[in-house]
Amino acid sequence: MENNLNESELSEAYLAKCLRRLKEWGAPLEDWRCVDLIDMCEGDDEDTPPTFAKCDLCDCHKVRFVHVMDHPLYFEEVRVGCICAGIMEGDVLAAKERERLMKNRSQRRKNFVAGKWKEATPRKALRLYTRTHKGQKLWISVYPGNRYYVRCDEKTTSRYKGQPIDNFYSAVYAAFDLADPMEDIL
Ligand SMILES: [Zn+2]
Repeated sequence: MENNLNESELSEAYLAKCLRRLKEWGAPLEDWRCVDLIDMCEGDDEDTPPTFAKCDLCDCHKVRFVHVMDHPLYFEEVRVGCICAGIMEGDVLAAKERERLMKNRSQRRKNFVAGKWKEATPRKALRLYTRTHKGQKLWISVYPGNRYYVRCDEKTTSRYKGQPIDNFYSAVYAAFDLADPMEDIL
């Protein structure tokens, strides 16, 4: 599994294979930048087998954390595992550190989703839930017509993954993204 590779396993043959594929694509060989990290197991529950992705570069089928790599001189993003991301950006240790932070965030997210919200004193036609995360105060407001608004300090949103929030679970995920943003890792 690529994610378990250590430096000694970053063999000449593996490196050569990755560089060969980039050349085949006519893509730059270096100076790629990671623009997003996706946890393939994010939506999984305990009972389902884990979801993995395939690395575009080395074809490893067991990628849990997908590093989305971008280059201004290439027409599309490339989705790879940790070591291949490190090769593309020229810094395997940086890619590993990013993945470690992401793993920790995924654990925090799991704990957050399982955590309790406190129902605040309701106002007219409004339900309000609150809690804290990393020292920040979070609110979920529910308006008639199933309209959800999420607030973390001065940041607010009414959307999750580009869609209007219409259920409590999506509101919880949106609250986590506000309180523990991916931007802190990238
Ligand atoms: Zn790979």
